[in-house]
Amino acid sequence: MTPLPFQSRREPHPHPRTDSEREAVLADPGFGTHFTDHMFLTEWTPDAGWHDARVVPYGPLSMDPATAVLHYAQEIFEGLKAYSHADGSVWLFRPEENAARMRRSAWRLALPELPEEWFLGSIRDLVEADRAWVPHGGETSLYLRPFMFASEVFLGVRPSQHVTYSVIASPAGSYFPGGVKPVSIWLSTDYARAGAGGTGAAKCGGNYAASLRPQQVAIDNGCAQVAFLDDVEHRWIEELGGMNLYFVQSDGSIVTPELSGSILEGVTRDSILQIARDLGHEVEERRVSIEEWREGAADGTITEVFACGTAAVVTPVGALKWDGGQAVAGDGGAGKVTMEIRSSLVDLQYGRADDPHGWLTRVA
Ligand SMILES: *Cc1c(COP(=O)(O)O)cnc(C)c1O
Repeated sequence: MTPLPFQSRREPHPHPRTDSEREAVLADPGFGTHFTDHMFLTEWTPDAGWHDARVVPYGPLSMDPATAVLHYAQEIFEGLKAYSHADGSVWLFRPEENAARMRRSAWRLALPELPEEWFLGSIRDLVEADRAWVPHGGETSLYLRPFMFASEVFLGVRPSQHVTYSVIASPAGSYFPGGVKPVSIWLSTDYARAGAGGTGAAKCGGNYAASLRPQQVAIDNGCAQVAFLDDVEHRWIEELGGMNLYFVQSDGSIVTPELSGSILEGVTRDSILQIARDLGHEVEERRVSIEEWREGAADGTITEVFACGTAAVVTPVGALKWDGGQAVAGDGGAGKVTMEIRSSLVDLQYGRADDPHGWLTRVA
């Protein structure tokens, strides 16, 4: 069915937070615990397609206990940020990429595809309604979380015939308020995040559910994140639970694991392929083995390792640890190339540098 042109109605919050309540939150927003006054909602059915797009007061969704998503996890999500520039305007970074990835994720999970116009419109309308919630200064942003789930009340196993798409927004403080600090990573040898033919390339909640046990093992071993290997040879580096990986080599070139079908294609990963080239680095996408990481860190061929994703942007990896050993690239601190790439990306997102690739979209 041809989708309808996007149009949403707004039902303003009858009791939005006062200016002082909002400012108290924005003074120290943290991550993912505070939400704005409104949310976006729309529903899909096979007969009506996507319909009833609306910005409504933020609040609980009431669900029948037999709602399909609660049983079979037919759910996908996205994550992107709205950035406040020095002149007060508000911008998104490559939102078309999130829209396209959400369509790919939807296809894999047998959910209906949301047209790009609807994805961008949903975000624009929510940001407009809650513009006062976009934080200013430092590396603060309004984190946007679009998500789609099976909302049919039915316990049979088949693609849902009623689907809900929503966007919520959460003010986010600087990820590294005290300056960028390297994280330690635990190498998971017992668990895979995703397998060949599975859902690793789709941004679905189920992948995260599968990463939580290994994540707990990482925490028990004093690490912040887990690195996963491929599930066939248990040898090739895939990614972290929610971030992609990059390696800086002693000749100045940069390597990231090539998309394997089970790696999530990050917008940050893709942007860094370009930014690193713009900065004059050779960039390769190829398989990287766990031996290459261990030996390269030991003999100095790998000088820096970093992780990347929307939430933390670029995070230096200090040590890779496993039962009985560890590998530390360079001096284990935040490397020079890592920080150069990080500031190029952040400066572009916050409008402090040119945007040669047309990656920014103004929303308010
Ligand atoms: C979202 C996500 C990333 C990072 O993607 P970005 O678009 O850069 O935020 C990487 N890996 C996984 C598993 C993810 O879910």
